[in-house]
Amino acid sequence: MTLANIGVIGLGVMGRNLVLNMERNGFTVAVFNKTTAKMHEFIQGDAAGKRIVGYETLADLVKGLERPRRILLMVTAGAAVDAVIAELKPLLEPGDILIDGGNSYFLDTERRSRELEASGLWFVGMGVSGGEEGALWGPSIMPGGSPEAWQALAPILQAIAARAEDGAPCVTHIGPGGAGHYVKMVHNGIEYADMQLIAEIYDLLSRGAGMSADQLADVFAEWNEGELKSYLIEITSHVLRRKDDLTGKPLVDVILDEAQQKGTGKWTGQNALDLGAPVPTIQAAVESRSLSAMKERRVLASRVLGGPKPMYQGEVKPLVEAARQALYAAKIIAYAQGFELMSMASQEYQYNLQLAELARIWRAGCIIRAALLEEITAAYRRDPALPNLLLDPAFAQAVAERQTNWRWLMQTAIGMGIPTLALSSALAYYDAYRSERLPANLIQGLRDYFGAHTYRRLDREGVFHTRWNE
Ligand code: NAP
Repeated sequence: MTLANIGVIGLGVMGRNLVLNMERNGFTVAVFNKTTAKMHEFIQGDAAGKRIVGYETLADLVKGLERPRRILLMVTAGAAVDAVIAELKPLLEPGDILIDGGNSYFLDTERRSRELEASGLWFVGMGVSGGEEGALWGPSIMPGGSPEAWQALAPILQAIAARAEDGAPCVTHIGPGGAGHYVKMVHNGIEYADMQLIAEIYDLLSRGAGMSADQLADVFAEWNEGELKSYLIEITSHVLRRKDDLTGKPLVDVILDEAQQKGTGKWTGQNALDLGAPVPTIQAAVESRSLSAMKERRVLASRVLGGPKPMYQGEVKPLVEAARQALYAAKIIAYAQGFELMSMASQEYQYNLQLAELARIWRAGCIIRAALLEEITAAYRRDPALPNLLLDPAFAQAVAERQTNWRWLMQTAIGMGIPTLALSSALAYYDAYRSERLPANLIQGLRDYFGAHTYRRLDREGVFHTRWNE
């Protein structure tokens, strides 16, 4: 019997497509799914006639693998990962490699790595981005863990990963322990921000300027030809174009305005708070989803809370152009926040993250793939220690050139009462970042007043306290 090159546990949306991708690239794959019927259905369906072998038990799957064994878990993040590991562990031998390809929390990955590596097993926490299609045709892959495990996995991962325009596979060894899942978490945080920025621009132009879904589909399609070129802009035009089968209306107009979330954006925000890394645009994106989910309360409030009616009176063309420029500038800011967070995390957790490499592997395959990532890769190659993307001369100029239009767009939005939590937080972040002096002097004065927390001075060394009431 030919032993399989790799085993995959979990034949959900992602698992089955990754299996087909590996097989298409010449690997023999052994598969297992908790609900056995799903495994049989896969083997008799999409996997029929291919080098894919189904097993009904984990023990049999393990016996069907070449050594050292490589086993990829594609199961629901959380307790399911621990349950599968507990069942697999006694069946494995030192040197075998377990890979968790789900969206696990990076500190869970740190814990699992410690536990498994104490028994001589390698554990690789691996971020995978690209959704269903990416898994099948080439995702962006972010594996963490030990360099030894990476060596053993590289041939498979490099074969199945997306390829950027220069032909390079969108995978690299991210760093030790939970580094792979950490970076995937921040990728998703940036994805939240990216989507929220797009949604706010859509709101401004549709609710504010009265543009139809079809008109906006044209606008986004055109934007996708220029500097905004990206997967999310492209699919925004597709979503806006789609008609509802039931009513014939634009589908987007009949979709309930409650955004759901699975947690990676929230984790990014929580971790940023832990590290003291400012990521207000990512936080705004998470909080905007929470606000959206309060539909009933918003319906009630809409009847009692007054404000201007969103009715743009001016010419639409300059507004659309300002929106394009603001979206690009705000997107740069969202990435600047995410990358600065990763650079701070790299220090804190000793991940030794190579920011240019991270931008490089996000150029294709993943949900946030965008022309902009070529520029970000170039910026971090120019200066790997760049403290913030905004300090790269090309990005500094890109935002500076667009700020007049961006500020005008924000004034227009505020005037119309259109909420722009992400767009305006990005602009405020830019203004804060470029302010030599912020009003934190007053905060320190207040803290010292009520709590004797002390303050430092601009003009001399030392720590000072004032008896404010004397
Ligand atoms: P999915 O379609 O919901 O499939 C979940 C899989 O997990 C099923 O095979 C399920 O088996 C298995 N499972 C659940 N609980 C289990 C348990 N206790 N023991 C063993 N197996 C168990 O999920 P998915 O979309 O493929 O996602 C898998 C992972 O990839 C998740 O962590 C997800 O966050 C991550 N991810 C998803 C995407 C995406 O676009 N969907 C993108 C990147 C990453 P049964 O069939 O028996 O229920």
